[in-house]
Amino acid sequence: MKRRKFFYDDEPNFLVYKPKKITFVNGKSYYLHRGYTYSRAYASATGARWRCTQTSSCKAYIRLSPEERLEEIADCHNHAAKKYLKLSNGMYIRTE
Ligand SMILES: [Zn+2]
Repeated sequence: MKRRKFFYDDEPNFLVYKPKKITFVNGKSYYLHRGYTYSRAYASATGARWRCTQTSSCKAYIRLSPEERLEEIADCHNHAAKKYLKLSNGMYIRTE
């Protein structure tokens, strides 16, 4: 499993890896990161884990602090990334 942890003080390139919170036209919110979407799996006092939306087969996840800063990516997808399009109203659709 490819896995990396982020520590803000020593990760100058952090923004390159920053997932983006998006809302789809159906109203659901996910994190989008490099063509993969993540939905919230659980939250605790120490943060939240968001799992790849293809949860039946994929074990990839991201972990965020309570302030929603990225702390960890387990980037182990077993499927290809998708393409998404931002509409003029700010919401997203999947295009493939
Ligand atoms: Zn995945």
